[in-house]
Parts: sequence; C-alpha cells; structure tokens
Amino acid sequence: MSKSISGSCLCGKVKCTVSGPFQRFYQCYCDRCQKRTGSAFASLIFTTPDKIEWHSGKELTKRYDLPEAERFSTCFCSECGSPVPYISRNKSFLIIPAGFIEDDPEIKPSANIFWNERSCWYDEGQSANKYEGDLD
Ligand SMILES: [Zn+2]
Ligand SMILES: [Zn+2]
Repeated sequence: MSKSISGSCLCGKVKCTVSGPFQRFYQCYCDRCQKRTGSAFASLIFTTPDKIEWHSGKELTKRYDLPEAERFSTCFCSECGSPVPYISRNKSFLIIPAGFIEDDPEIKPSANIFWNERSCWYDEGQSANKYEGDLD
C-alpha cells in the first residue's frame, strides 16, 4: 500500500506529497552535502520519480547540477532556501530531503555514506551536552 506523506519548505510556498514505501534512506557526510545543507550531513530518502505530486510552488524551485560532478545535484526553494525534492540526473530516482517531510517516512536511515569526509567537528558534536530548548 502506498501512503501519501506531505512535505513543505520552511516558508510553506513549496508543497507536495510523496508516496511510500520508500526504497532507501541514506545520510551523506560528503563535502558537497556539507556545503548544500550548511550542516554535518544530508538526510536523503530515495524512491522512484513517479512518487511525487506537486501542490504548489514548483515554479519557485531552483535546481543546481554541479558541473564538475557526474551525479551531484541539489534543488531548493528560491524564496527560503530549503532543500526540496528533485529527480536524479540519470532520471532514475526521486531524492527527497528527509527534513522536507512532515510525517513519519516509515523508513529509517540504513547507511552513513562518505563517512570519511565527515567534518572534523562531527564526533564532538554528537557527544556535546544536550538541552531541550535553546540556551539563553
Ligand atoms: Zn520556501
Ligand atoms: Zn553527499
């Protein structure tokens, strides 16, 4: 059974639903994913290109295919900069940034890829003190 899951960007202008079950959920620590997310890693869910239905804001999405790369692309809302779903360059996959999804994707990460490229502060970040909210 395929279940529809809604997703949206930070400003709410880009909205779509994606339907599971999803095929793969990877966390990528590569240098490029650090750049595109501004963070330690990208959480990416993979499925087939037919599993997306756009509801609004598709025209606001901006795709970037890294010229020197064979496969690397990213796509984001031109209004708020949030990563949004996109089709892989070989057209085989729909790649969904996990944070874009609002409900439980019903799949858990199964691999941490490009682990050797993780930032030099990643390990310490994992063991840093944890707080329920922000600090003063
Ligand atoms: Zn947005
Ligand atoms: Zn990556």
